[in-house]
Amino acid sequence: PVQRIDIVSIFPEYFAPLGLSLVGKAVASGLLAVDVHDLRDWTHDRHRTVDDTPYGGGAGMVMKPEPWGEALDALVDPEQPPVLVVPTPSGVPFTQALAHEWAHEPRLLFACGRYEGIDARVMDHARTRMQVREVSLGDYVLNGGEVAVLAMVEAVVRLIPGVIGNPESLVEESYAEGQDGLLEYPVYTKPASWRGLEVPPVLLSGDHGKVDAWRREQSLDRTRARRPDLLAAEGAVADAS
Ligand code: SAM
Repeated sequence: PVQRIDIVSIFPEYFAPLGLSLVGKAVASGLLAVDVHDLRDWTHDRHRTVDDTPYGGGAGMVMKPEPWGEALDALVDPEQPPVLVVPTPSGVPFTQALAHEWAHEPRLLFACGRYEGIDARVMDHARTRMQVREVSLGDYVLNGGEVAVLAMVEAVVRLIPGVIGNPESLVEESYAEGQDGLLEYPVYTKPASWRGLEVPPVLLSGDHGKVDAWRREQSLDRTRARRPDLLAAEGAVADAS
């Protein structure tokens, strides 16, 4: 499982929330180490410059390769290189499957881009020394990689054994293996009647077979309505519906 996560950003303050909740507890209990680094520590000019104008022209600025190169030199142990994760809207989609894969890696290093992204040679050079994954959080554009990295770290860390009290909750939720790739059914708690709305009676019946069948039907309905692409990708589900 993951033992160490390094994050490089020009806004280290963005990562304060990692001290809270499950990730914070996992770090406090020594399950893993999370270190956030300021990219500007690897600049050498008075203005601590990390960006410059793009070759070929166009709007915006591009992150210079030198500070990134020095940061990776300082943080990467050649004996045990990390998986280098670079968030970018032009990456492959981040999925639960990738979260599972990374949860098994001893070391992860996240490189947060800003402006129009990082000089591509940084990733090309890194690829000669470690696995590099350019990954997108979704089909929209954020201002920087920080929010994407917060999401990815949270998705990965909760899969580390011992981080979540009840491992069963990992199995049942949306996108988990063993769910046929269906979305999770709606959930309810007490009181049974609230503002004139009743909990579906089957959930109060005590009949586990009926509850399971109802939940499966709800999962299918939801997936059909919200994510038909998941059903198309999952042949087996058609039989069950
Ligand atoms: N011009 C760039 C493009 O279209 O690919 C957009 C750069 S964006 C303004 C700045 C940084 O935000 C990116 O380098 C990346 O680190 C991050 N970012 C933006 N959207 C993202 C997304 N959907 N997934 C992951 N990272 C994203």
